[in-house]
Order: sequence, then C-alpha cells, then structure tokens
Amino acid sequence: MGHETLVIIGSGPAGLTAAIYAARANLRPLLFEGLPRGTDLPGGQLMITTDVENYPGFADGILGPELVEQMRKQAERFETRFVADLVSKVDLSRRPFALALESSGETVTCDALILATGAVAKWIGLPSERRLMGFGVSACATCDGAFFKQQDIAVVGGGDTAMEEASFLTKFARKVYVIHRRGELRASKIMQQRVLESPKVEVIWHHEVVEVLGQAPKPGVTGMRLRDVRDGKTRELAVTGCFVAIGHKPNTDLFIGQLDMDAAGYLQLERGTATKIPGVFAAGDVADHTYRQAVTAAGSGCMAAIDAERFLAGHAH
Ligand code: NAP
Repeated sequence: MGHETLVIIGSGPAGLTAAIYAARANLRPLLFEGLPRGTDLPGGQLMITTDVENYPGFADGILGPELVEQMRKQAERFETRFVADLVSKVDLSRRPFALALESSGETVTCDALILATGAVAKWIGLPSERRLMGFGVSACATCDGAFFKQQDIAVVGGGDTAMEEASFLTKFARKVYVIHRRGELRASKIMQQRVLESPKVEVIWHHEVVEVLGQAPKPGVTGMRLRDVRDGKTRELAVTGCFVAIGHKPNTDLFIGQLDMDAAGYLQLERGTATKIPGVFAAGDVADHTYRQAVTAAGSGCMAAIDAERFLAGHAH
C-alpha cells in the first residue's frame, strides 16, 4: 500500500461519520475497519445492539447493525475506500505517519490520521452472556433501559458505572438487583448512596453470575444462575434483563507511549479532537468515557474530519 492523505482507523459511528465528512471534502479517506476478533465486530459496539431508539432521525427506531450499514453506505457513496484489516502498529514519531497492517503485513503512510478505535465493554465471559447479547443482556442502560418497563432486572458490578446504570434503570424497572462479588462496593460514596436509598434496589452481595438463563431471540433472558462465593451454593434469580456494568476498555493499546492517556487508558485531547501530535485526531469512545453514545461518537467523528481538513489545508503536502 502506498501513501494516503487521510487515514481513519475504526468503523463505528465515529469512524464512519468522519469518513462521510472527509469524503465529501474530497479527501478520499482510507478507512481501516478492523476484523472480527473475540466479541468485537467491525462496526463497533452497535453491532451487538438490537433496537436503537435514541438515534435522532429514526422515529421508529433502527437495529444497531442496520444503522452501521446505512452509515457505511453513505460513506461509500462519497468514495471512502474501506480496507478490512486491523492496524497492528502505528508510528506517530515520523512524518508521514506510518501504519502496519496485521493480515497483509503491508505498511501505509499518511499525512493525517483520525483514531476512532472505540472501546469495548468488559464482559463476564460466559457463553450464555454472549448468546443472549441484545436479547436481554446489555452493557448500556441508556440505550436499552426503556425496554424493561415494570420488569425485574439485574445489574452486575460494584463500581460507579454499575451504580449509574442501576440508578438510571430504577426509572423504568419494577425491581433492580445489583449483583456484586464482594461485600463492599467500589463505587464512590455519593453514587452508592443514591442507589442504596432507592426502594427499588436490592443488592445481592458476595455473588457472581455463573449463567444467564433464557433463549434468543425469544423469550430472551428469563433469569440468572448466581453462585455465593463464600460457600459455593447456587441459586436462580428471575429477571428479564441483565446489565453487565463491570467497566469498559478503550482500544488504545496501539498508541501506548505515543499519545497521552488517562489512568483508564482513554486518549486525552487538547483542542477539539486534536491529540498532542498535530495531524492526529481522535473521535468517539476511544477518547470519551463520559457519554459513550452513538450520536456523540458520530458528532465527534464529524468534528475530527473538519479538524483534519483544516489541518491538511494548512500543511501543503
Ligand atoms: P471499576 O471502577 O473498575 O469497577 C468495576 C466493578 O466491576 C467492580 O466493582 C468490580 O468488582 C466489578 N467486576 C470487574 N470484573 C468483574 C467480573 N468479571 N465479574 C464480576 N464483577 C466484576 O469500573 P467502572 O465502574 O466502569 O468505573 C471506571 C472508572 O470510571 C472509575 O474510575 C469510575 O469512578 C469512573 N466512573 C465515574 C462515573 C461518574 O462519576 N459519574 C461514572 C462511571 C464511571 P470488585 O469491586 O470486586 O473489583
């Protein structure tokens, strides 16, 4: 592969929106969309979501994979070029920047780079959890909470994310169980208090999930099998939703030592979408642990494309 003006890494809403804007600015972006690996799919976290009801413009909702497909087609229409490969190495210390590809082993260089590699929710790692993903198993209460009106559901985890999810879910659910593997929450006191004071919440201490029960697509989740870590005894809990909230991991291993990151590994930005290296921009969940929504990722993808366009205009190449 040769030299490119603009390369985008990532094929979720951030990368695809950046591609739409950059392509319409005649930058002919090249987008690396990744390869399926473990629980990841090209297209990002929307690929493991079913109904998306909060993306503006789709009054009747849209399926996550369909939303990604629409964005991809839109980017393709303006001549974005897609490569199904993973970037295995980046060198941001030289100009042009250099990227090595995993499958082909080839190298590509570029003048500007948009990083939209996203984040992945941490999962417990159970086969039943994977099978029921999108059918009652979720890692996003903001996205899926409204599907569980007046139902009994569970949140797994004891950190701030779990408290935030549990607190949000009390707006919809009849009962919210918080399942935590220890006898003490890791979350900040104020977040704990908000959750523990809710009459809808019951914490199940010292328990871990050994299986999510149910069938996909119907009836979806029907319960969970829990194990008491103190005596190994198992019990079943009847719930129709299981929100896994044990943290997220941004996909930033590629950039360690080259770009600034916070303690959790999220990229730190300077102005707008700019990283500390001129010509390198970031969009979406890779630099956002606060909002993590498809629409905010898409919005920041647009911003990154505009920032990259301005950078390129100011640097003849
Ligand atoms: P976290 O603080 O690392 O907490 C993860 C929780 O999940 C812990 O309670 C942990 O249990 C549990 N856990 C981890 N792996 C597990 C497994 N395999 N099975 C069962 N339980 C498991 O992650 P987080 O809650 O996502 O928070 C990440 C960072 O973002 C934190 O610094 C947090 O303060 C911040 N945050 C802030 C806000 C806010 O202020 N609004 C909201 C969200 C997140 P143990 O406790 O036993 O380790």
